[in-house]
Order: sequence, then C-alpha cells, then structure tokens
Amino acid sequence: MAIILPTLIISIFRGAIMNSIIRLLPENVANQIAAGEVIQRPASAVKELLENAIDAGAKRIQLILKDAGRTLIQVIDDGTGMNEQDARMCFERHATSKLKEADDLFNIKTKGFRGEALASIAAIAQVELKTRTEENEAGTCIRIEANEVLGQEPCQLSRGTSISVKNLFYNVPARRNFLKSDTVEFRHILEEFYRVAIAHVNVAFSLFHNGNEEFRLEPASLRQRLSAIYGVNYHERLMPVEEETTIVKITGLVCKPEFSRKTRGEQFFFINDRFIKSPYLHHAVQAAFEGLIPPGEFVSYFLFLTLDPSRIDVNIHPTKTEVKFEDENHIYSILRSTVKRSLGKFNLSPTLDFEQEVAVQNYQRDRPIVPPVIKVNPEYNPFRDEPVHRKPVLNNTLIPEEKEPRRPAMQILGKYLLSPIRSGAMIIHIRLAHERILFERIMQDLREQKGRSQQLLFPQHFTLSSENGLVLKDLIPTLQSAGYDLNEFGKDTYVIQGIPPGMSEADALAAVEKLIDQCKISGLKDTDKIHESIAQLLATGMSMKEGRILQPEESEALINDLFACEQPAFSPGGRPTVITLDESQLQKLFER
Ligand code: ADP
Ligand code: MG
Repeated sequence: MAIILPTLIISIFRGAIMNSIIRLLPENVANQIAAGEVIQRPASAVKELLENAIDAGAKRIQLILKDAGRTLIQVIDDGTGMNEQDARMCFERHATSKLKEADDLFNIKTKGFRGEALASIAAIAQVELKTRTEENEAGTCIRIEANEVLGQEPCQLSRGTSISVKNLFYNVPARRNFLKSDTVEFRHILEEFYRVAIAHVNVAFSLFHNGNEEFRLEPASLRQRLSAIYGVNYHERLMPVEEETTIVKITGLVCKPEFSRKTRGEQFFFINDRFIKSPYLHHAVQAAFEGLIPPGEFVSYFLFLTLDPSRIDVNIHPTKTEVKFEDENHIYSILRSTVKRSLGKFNLSPTLDFEQEVAVQNYQRDRPIVPPVIKVNPEYNPFRDEPVHRKPVLNNTLIPEEKEPRRPAMQILGKYLLSPIRSGAMIIHIRLAHERILFERIMQDLREQKGRSQQLLFPQHFTLSSENGLVLKDLIPTLQSAGYDLNEFGKDTYVIQGIPPGMSEADALAAVEKLIDQCKISGLKDTDKIHESIAQLLATGMSMKEGRILQPEESEALINDLFACEQPAFSPGGRPTVITLDESQLQKLFER
C-alpha cells in the first residue's frame, strides 16, 4: 500500500500532463498571426512605413515599389533616424517610442503607438533597415527575416531611415495567393499614399513604381496638392469650409454641388491629421447637400477635424482607421451645418459676380489691390445702391469700381422678378425666394427660442390618436419656440391658442399634422432636423401667394432680404430661387 499510493499519484499527475492540450505558440508563429491583423496586403505595409516616417518628423519621403509592392516596398525618409540599439528594438512586438505610460494612450498625437507594425512586417518579409541619427556619425544597417536578425553592421548614410521590405508574405503562401492583380494592389497602395500625402501637405513625397516616377509632390497648399494628385483643374471643383467651435475645428474643402457624381469620388476625413473612415460623418456631409444634389449622388470632400485627443479613441482597430468620439452627435451637427453654411456662402455668389476677372485687373492698374479675403461678405448684395467698390466679395474677387446705375426689378407673370445685372439678367422666383427668407428667419427664431405668437380669437381644439399624441408631446416645446401657443387640453385633446404671425389660421393645424407624419416616417430625433421641418412647413404656409403684385419697395426688400440669407440660391425644398442668364446664354437663345 505504502508503495502503491505514490505510484498512483505519479501516474495521475503524468496523465494530466499527457492530456493537457494548451501550448504557448512559438514566437514566430504568434508574430505571423498578429501580422495578419496589421498587414493584409502591400498597401498596409506602405501605410505603416509612411506613417513611421511622418512620426519621425520627415520633411521628404520617397516610396519605391516593385510589382505593386510584392517584390519591394522601400521607404526613405529624412526624419530623426534611430541609434544602433533602437534599430534592433523597433522590430520587437510592442516596441514603441511613442507611449511611455498608460495615460499617454489618451493623448495620442502620433500616427503609431501600438508598436506592432515593424514586428509584423518583419514576421512575413525580408527586411533591411538602414538608419542614422543626427548625433551618430555612422549609421547602422540591420537585416531581419521571419523575425530573426541575420546581421547588423555600421553603414554610411545621411540622417534618416531607409527601410526595404522584400518579398512580402514569402513565408505565408495563403496570404500571397490571396493578393489581387498588380493593378488592384497598386490602386490600394495609391489610396494609402494619397491619404498620407493629403494629410501632410508640407511634406514632400515622391513615388516610384517599377522604375517610373509616378508622383513628385512638393510642399504645397491643400488645393495645390489635390491638383497635383488628381489633375490640374481639380481644385476648381472645391470650395473652402471653415469653422471653429469649442469642441472641434473644421477646415478643408468640399465639392461644389454641380460636381456631385453617381460614383463615389473622393471622400476624406482626417481627425488630427489621421485619415479615418466614418460612415456617420459621411452622412453628415451628404445631408448638408440635401436638396442641392440629385438623390443618390455623392460629393467629394477633404475635411480636417481637429479636436482634443482625449475626446477620441483611435485604439479600437489595429489599422486605426476607425475612431470613437466622445461627442459624436455634436460633431455630426456641427459638421453638417458648417458644410451647409459654406455651400450657402460660396454657391451663389460667383454666378452673380460682375465680370470678376476684368474687375480685378482694372483694380490692379489703378491702385494697390486689397488683400484677397477668403470670406464672403454677408453684406454683399449686387443690387444695393450704396457704393460697393473696394468691397472684397469672394476668393480674390472684387466688385467693379463703378457704381451700377440702379434699375428697378420688373415683375412678370405675377410670379417672377426680372432684373438686369452687369453680366446679363437675373430672374427671381418670388414665392421660392420668400420661402427661403422666411425659412431662415424661422430657423433663427427657433435657435434663439423666441418665436413670436399671434393669439387666435377662437382657439382651435383638436384630437389625436394616442400614438400621434405621443409624437406631438415631444414636439410641443419646439413648436412653442416656433410661435405656436399649443398645449395639451385633456385626454388626446390639444388646443392651439396662438400661431406664428404670418401663418394663416386655416394652415396652422395642417402644418402640425404634417409635422407629426414626418416625424413618424423619418423618426426625426435631431433637434436641428425637427427645426428644419417646422421651418420649412411654416415657410411654405406663410409665403406669398402667386400673382400678388409687389410694390417697388417690396421687390427691393425681397431682393435685399434674399441676398442677406445664408443660402440664397435655393428654396428650403431645394429648388433654385434665382436663375441668371449671362450674355453668352442670351446670345445662344437667338441663334438658329
Ligand atoms: P509604432 O509606430 O506603433 O511605435 P512601429 O512598429 O511602427 O510601431 O515602430 C516601432 C518604433 O520604431 C517606433 O516607435 C519608432 O520609435 C521607431 N521607428 C520606426 N520607423 C521609424 C523611422 N522611419 N524613423 C525613426 N524611427 C522609426
Ligand atoms: Mg508605426
């Protein structure tokens, strides 16, 4: 017995060892698996290497490729470089110089921070790194393959880093076979190249593929860089966007509505100069164009959002192209209204500019030119009688010096105002213009919660189903700020005792019912959206009826008020309010 027991214990113990199935993976296998998350194709390696060069403060970056990156990806930069020890360390998993303590994770200003890219690349390719810092006279060259250092020796090079990645996935046939044609892979690489090059316009980039120089981008403005990438005239399609609020600063360029396309085009968001994908923010931009472009069409944009790094989390995906925001809804609304405002400011004015080119030349001849102001003058009104010279209007353009002899607008067919302008004629749709003016006024009142109300002599009582009643209850405060004196009266019964001035009593209830329907269909939640719906309904209900004859002062006031609007060019429903006919268009009408 005394002998049997220990033997039994030993054999049970052995059995346990024999049956256990969990093993630690050998490091190179673990690295290969991890590599799969970060490096899916040559383009992912290109992204990581370009970003490392940017993080190293490079001012000049060269990308050299062979066979769409399958055979060679080389990135040369003039950044800080690394010393001998760091050159070895940088290939270790989780080796990074960019985070020192856990808290740094909430204040990330660099592209990288996970310390995985080089370890991943070195697990699945043959890598040669040459690098030198300012302080060291000689550089160091290290060769590494499947995470194994093959050798390290001193070498000569100027300050910076050159890293060559050869035969990507040479030891992972499944990955290699999964790659698409060179054309497709090269396209993916270009996508990454553009993202970095657009985010860093003050850095020079060049790109060689199979010995051909494909791009040479010198430091430039955003407009110039985009034209260097997409073609000389590309920037003409774009207009500036700019806004600074306490939580986010937005700058960049968006497409003019007439350049919207059925195909997706170029859509770029950069958060703190990092390219990110965000269907949510994309929706905000598209929503700003609602009514200005045909449904289903896309606009291009290049938008830079700057915000406190602690308010975002970029660490939710290994490639860091997705971001979580603390104030996502606010940012959505700010972005949407910022883009909308730029559209309003920049969209109409150029068509009304009086022979802008000529004007600028005349101006230069006579006196020093006023510095170009990239801001629209909200006071700008082509019809106002005051002296308009020397008023900057829009991007480098000026109103001509001479005063236009002022001629009154003429009402035609009861519906339109026809007015001569320098470049030809302008036709305003009276009702639609009036809708726009009212819409913006009501929006303003709603925002400031100071809608005026006109008391009804006979209050209107109405009943609603309890489902509609629930929707209405949510809307009551907003309706009140629009000028409705509307309250619950009893079970399923409501009373309207006052309505926004200008609205007809007959339309008042219908507008409320329409709004309830809209809320039910579209699930309107966003306050701004609800305001817009209300404002649109009210503006339609309150606008001038067609056929009314306007006094000259009324026409004048209508035109002045229209051009004081944020978005004078379109009615709230998205129809044009104004059409201009220039000389060549008029001429064409008389040709056979
Ligand atoms: P991460 O960028 O997330 O820190 P990487 O694996 O991409 O991780 O790089 C590891 C480290 O190697 C970096 O933190 C940086 O210190 C160094 N490094 C990588 N590329 C360069 C470069 N081009 N110039 C200077 N240092 C570099
Ligand atoms: Mg990196």
